[in-house]
Amino acid sequence: MILPPATLGMLGGGQLGRFFVSAAHEMGYKVWVLDPDPHSPAGLIADRHLVAAYDDYGALDALAAGCAAVTTEFENVPADTLDYLGKFIPVHPAASAVAVCQNRIAEKTFLADHGLPHGPCAVIRGEDDIRSAPAALFPAVLKVARFGYDGKGQARVADAEEALAAFQHFKGEPCVLEKMLALDCEVSVVLARDETGAVRSFPAGDNRHRNGILDVTIAPAQLAASEAGGVATEAQRIAERIAERLGYVGTLGVEFFVCAGELFVNEMAPRPHNSGHHTLDACDVSQYEQQVRALCGLPLAAPRQHSAAVMVNLLGELWYADGKGHGAYREPDWSVLHAVPGLRLHLYGKHHARPGRKMGHFTVVGDDPGTVLERALGARAAIG
Ligand code: ADP
Ligand code: MG
Repeated sequence: MILPPATLGMLGGGQLGRFFVSAAHEMGYKVWVLDPDPHSPAGLIADRHLVAAYDDYGALDALAAGCAAVTTEFENVPADTLDYLGKFIPVHPAASAVAVCQNRIAEKTFLADHGLPHGPCAVIRGEDDIRSAPAALFPAVLKVARFGYDGKGQARVADAEEALAAFQHFKGEPCVLEKMLALDCEVSVVLARDETGAVRSFPAGDNRHRNGILDVTIAPAQLAASEAGGVATEAQRIAERIAERLGYVGTLGVEFFVCAGELFVNEMAPRPHNSGHHTLDACDVSQYEQQVRALCGLPLAAPRQHSAAVMVNLLGELWYADGKGHGAYREPDWSVLHAVPGLRLHLYGKHHARPGRKMGHFTVVGDDPGTVLERALGARAAIG
């Protein structure tokens, strides 16, 4: 067990890293953050911020010398970086697990190899792969295999011709071509797994997207009565199986599509997940504290959710006069949100807002899911 006042290392300085730093601090640990951005939200509150690239071996040596163990808050950290640090100190999750989650081709291959449900898709490495793709895949979504997020690196395509154009637009980068599914809804499961193989998953949340970006998470998911228990429990079971097959240690987020009552894995995130923010305010333990626990070999806590919760993301457009990214730059009037009962506001301290950028979120908690949803949507309308 790694115990306080040990120092933990975090690769990445975004909001997920920032919440990890807060959780670790509360538990008595120190945290060093590696992120090239001098203004990174986690770097601002870390005990030490190494402002360097992820493949700066001088900085990695400093991290390895100063930290008892290291984890990550984003999937695009180079696998070589994790491998290198792993020679000196424990690294969780392991490079092999991160490698699967950071590449959509590896991800789909992993799911297929383990008999885990995913939607119809094809691997696209060249134009011939598009020409030979089954017609039944269209209409489809072409997604670059690496570095996509918040709907970026994706194109909706009606047919092979459009797919070819999109592939050229992505400069021939390896892609996956996914059949466009008619979604009943999207759910996600956040879990933690430790080195002994113990797994604790939070109840599934129901995710609503806007423009390819997560907008609202309703937790626990309020699914149609006919599906309620079934789909949510099955999602937890599948997510746990994924963690086990990956030999995963840490906090993992798994996104699912629900189509005609059936679950398909969409993607996995080898880190805490945006749809797990509510665990800070609505659960006995947060996804970030679980990340600390898994990293340090502490027993995982029971992830009981004690309150209904609705989380709303706050994007950069809110900082502009028209609330849509145009007009004068100004701070939103937060007093509007603080007036809402049960609302907890979290701002990430990013130094500049641009449209689409995740700047903060709020969670409304309470006893009655209907009231909580109404208050959260009302608060969003009032601030936006
Ligand atoms: P990322 O979250 O990395 O941007 P996703 O693959 O999760 O990428 O896609 C973002 C969103 O786009 C999904 O949450 C979903 O709303 C929509 N989407 C993606 N792929 C499909 C698909 N095959 N069918 C229907 N909707 C999709
Ligand atoms: Mg996604």
